Amino acid sequence: MSSKEFRQLRLENMSRDFGLLNALKGVNLTVQRGEFVALLGPSGCGKSTALNCLAGLLPLTAGSIWLDEARIDLLGPEARGFGMVFQNYALFPHMSVRKNIGFGLRMQRRPKAEIARKVEEALKLVRLEAQAEKLPGQISGGQQQRVAIARAIVVEPPLVLMDEPLSNLDAKLRLEMRAEIRRIHNLLGCATIYVTHDQDEALSLADRIVVLRDGQVRQVGTPEALYARPEHADVAEFMGYRN
Ligand code: ADP
Ligand code: MG
Repeated sequence: MSSKEFRQLRLENMSRDFGLLNALKGVNLTVQRGEFVALLGPSGCGKSTALNCLAGLLPLTAGSIWLDEARIDLLGPEARGFGMVFQNYALFPHMSVRKNIGFGLRMQRRPKAEIARKVEEALKLVRLEAQAEKLPGQISGGQQQRVAIARAIVVEPPLVLMDEPLSNLDAKLRLEMRAEIRRIHNLLGCATIYVTHDQDEALSLADRIVVLRDGQVRQVGTPEALYARPEHADVAEFMGYRN
């Protein structure tokens, strides 16, 4: 079974300290394949820390991460093989769009014909066929972000991790890319964990929202449930209730 066919990702007591600061205080969460989960919370609540722990870029202080029956929190980022899209998408400036997208496959030393085919599919998926030979500096911010997404998904990762991927784009483009990200997720059939501090973004994109506060999960639910039945005053306030 390839890891793409996993049934669920499980975080058990996921914890991370920075010196005396407990940035993540025992997060428990289960994510099913196919789900789009938003990690939502104010700046500094531990969203990026959680994502970096999931990606394998930051070791846990306590707890564990499971893909079905396999414990993965001791594996490095390459062995986990998750797709990552960050706020600063850091494309290689001297490589064409096509070369940027194929980078991960070349690192995996896949056969040339397979690389060409998969890159072509990814280009199509993010609608960048016409920009394939351009350099990142020659395309728009939204197009650059699409390259970053294509580069993350071309290796067919079981899990795609996105950390505020749209925050550097203008408002109009943000809305467009929101729809685009959800469309791509639906086509891939992977699981996506999407970090944002934007309630609107989480409500419109996610199947489930995890509200994080001060390194802890405050509430988990569908957008409808969270909006209609916030369980804590701070969640209600954060979701936009005023009284
Ligand atoms: P968010 O992404 O939700 O804004 P972060 O996960 O970046 O929050 O940060 C959570 C907390 O951990 C913050 O208090 C932040 O200052 C702290 N923190 C994050 N990374 C480090 C680090 N490398 N060293 C020390 N403190 C850190
Ligand atoms: Mg962050």
